Amino acid sequence: MPNNREVVAARPEKVSGLDPFRPYHFLHEQEPGPDGRLRRVNTVFLTNRECPFKCVFCDLWKHTLDEPTPEGAIPAQIRYALDRLPEAEVIKLYNNGNFFDLKAIPRSDYPEIAELCAGYERVIAENHPKITGPQIVQFQELLDAELEIAIGIESIHPEVLPRLNKQISGDDIEHAARKLRETGISLRGFILLNPPWLTDPAETRQSCLDTIRFAFDAGFETVSIIPVRTGNGYMEKLEADGAYIPPDLHMLESVVREALSWQRGRVFADLWDVRPFWPGSSESYEKWESAMNKLNLHQLNQD
Ligand code: SF4
Repeated sequence: MPNNREVVAARPEKVSGLDPFRPYHFLHEQEPGPDGRLRRVNTVFLTNRECPFKCVFCDLWKHTLDEPTPEGAIPAQIRYALDRLPEAEVIKLYNNGNFFDLKAIPRSDYPEIAELCAGYERVIAENHPKITGPQIVQFQELLDAELEIAIGIESIHPEVLPRLNKQISGDDIEHAARKLRETGISLRGFILLNPPWLTDPAETRQSCLDTIRFAFDAGFETVSIIPVRTGNGYMEKLEADGAYIPPDLHMLESVVREALSWQRGRVFADLWDVRPFWPGSSESYEKWESAMNKLNLHQLNQD
């Protein structure tokens, strides 16, 4: 079973010289809301203290700080991004880890963050199910908006989840989902298309669908399907050992289409930087990407 030390030892260098008072990225996009109507979304990728977990597939640590985030830095980053982004109805505050980790996002910054989110109808933040506490409700109460929490469910395959070094079980996820929903928080699940240790295509596809079904059964309203790539050092090791195969984008499409046909919630394909995995020409990729963007936007399972 991989452990933190092995995962960290395999890493290449982190991005150096990050400014704690600047987001490392921000963007504007569109996404359908729970009622299917398109919403404008501002996403801010916050620079903050590295996540304490060390999942084997994760490369989010690259844009993080080693020290606790200074007070005032997160509001400054959000203000910087929002000064440059257009109006939107939804704001995603993605911090490459856990929004409710108090060393990543200081609790003393909550009131100012909530103020900066005024006017948005929905605020989406990421969090690990094991990072809980009164700070979640405290932040929720400061908001003049719905709070949605995105949780990395990854894979509920019984032989895969324990080896991902995520340090959660399916029961932990169900328990966290129940507690969050009881306080009126909406849930979004990140699900891996092709986690390591699943190398048979039929099993990989079925396991991804099983995980999506698990998410909807647990009360998640939205899932995003993420192709797993190399780039963090440990994944290269798994690939060399034959324990990881790159994502099949046709499989991504077929999983999303099948899950949409259940009509249980929103299903998104994460298309970030997937071009290298397309087996055909640039022209055929552009056609495919455009069809997938339509699927993401309209959630209609039609060619
Ligand atoms: S919990 Fe999330 S951010 Fe932390 S290591 Fe795992 S995948 Fe990466």
